[in-house]
Amino acid sequence: MTNSSQNSFVDADYEDPFRPPTGSRPIKCEHCGETYESKEMFWDSEYEIWVCRNWPKCSGAGYGVDIHDVANPSSKGESPT
Ligand SMILES: [Zn+2]
Repeated sequence: MTNSSQNSFVDADYEDPFRPPTGSRPIKCEHCGETYESKEMFWDSEYEIWVCRNWPKCSGAGYGVDIHDVANPSSKGESPT
């Protein structure tokens, strides 16, 4: 797997409990209603939180909070197998 250089995860906190799972899993943001891949979430270094790809236009933030795994909404989905 290669990390895309499209997004710059500057100081991204991968220990954050609300981080998205690694890889690309379908997720849905409940705020904007869009479904996209987990890798499209990004780290907002100002608010220090993982946010929707449409941030700040969309206020969705936090995997497992406003943004959920499509296939298994109740799961944190941290370990794709
Ligand atoms: Zn959103």
